[in-house]
Amino acid sequence: MRKNIVAGNWKSNKTLTQALALAEEVKTLASQITTEAEIILGATSLYLLPIKKVLGEGSKVKISAQNTSAYGQGAFTGEISADQLASAEIPYVILGHSERRTLFGETDDIIQVKVKQALNAGLLPIFCCGEPFEIRQAGTQNDLVKIQVETALFGLSDEEMRKVVIAYEPVWAIGTGLTASAQQAQDMHAFIRSLIAIKFGKETAHEISILYGGSVKSSNAAEIFGMPDVDGGLIGGASLVADEFINIVKCA
Ligand code: PEP
Repeated sequence: MRKNIVAGNWKSNKTLTQALALAEEVKTLASQITTEAEIILGATSLYLLPIKKVLGEGSKVKISAQNTSAYGQGAFTGEISADQLASAEIPYVILGHSERRTLFGETDDIIQVKVKQALNAGLLPIFCCGEPFEIRQAGTQNDLVKIQVETALFGLSDEEMRKVVIAYEPVWAIGTGLTASAQQAQDMHAFIRSLIAIKFGKETAHEISILYGGSVKSSNAAEIFGMPDVDGGLIGGASLVADEFINIVKCA
């Protein structure tokens, strides 16, 4: 059964004290609502273990790293390998975020390696894809997203594919206040699901959660999450305020 998921991407925001306070607040508010949705907090790697402690054993709020190394353990100064994250029992990792692609030069090929490293280590990747504004203007967004999805995911086995969460995040909507319309999101999500169906079969495609990301707020989440192929969201700015984030969770 595919899950609805609402994942916060805190990026490089918050001091440790502020991050722990936010996690505590999310935990408290999450305990006051009834939801089937998986709630995930994507924090700076350094903060993940103390956040985990705040959330407690068996918490319904899970945690995610925002990146992992393309390499294993060894002489890779400054990197955190997937098996190191897994050894700290971090369940999820966000990979291929547009900020990693544009600011840190991550290509589809690098992301492919990271997805594989993550899966081999036992992590669940939240794989991000999405087109920049010029591509949307040119109307070629499906071609670009197809390349991103095919390159990163088509070398996986069926069993591996079922562990991947896909996040469609049009770059022009990230942190800009512009949001794809619910129909634009649905069209792309249905397209991505059709790509997965062609390669891995309809059953696998049906199982995969595809999240929408890009200026989601509590005021637009219900409409977007209400579309048949949208299984929740990856939330940036709005995840930094606990009650706004939980109001978004309520829409999933
Ligand atoms: C993101 O960075 O993944 C994101 C969706 O950001 P925002 O919600 O702020 O647009």
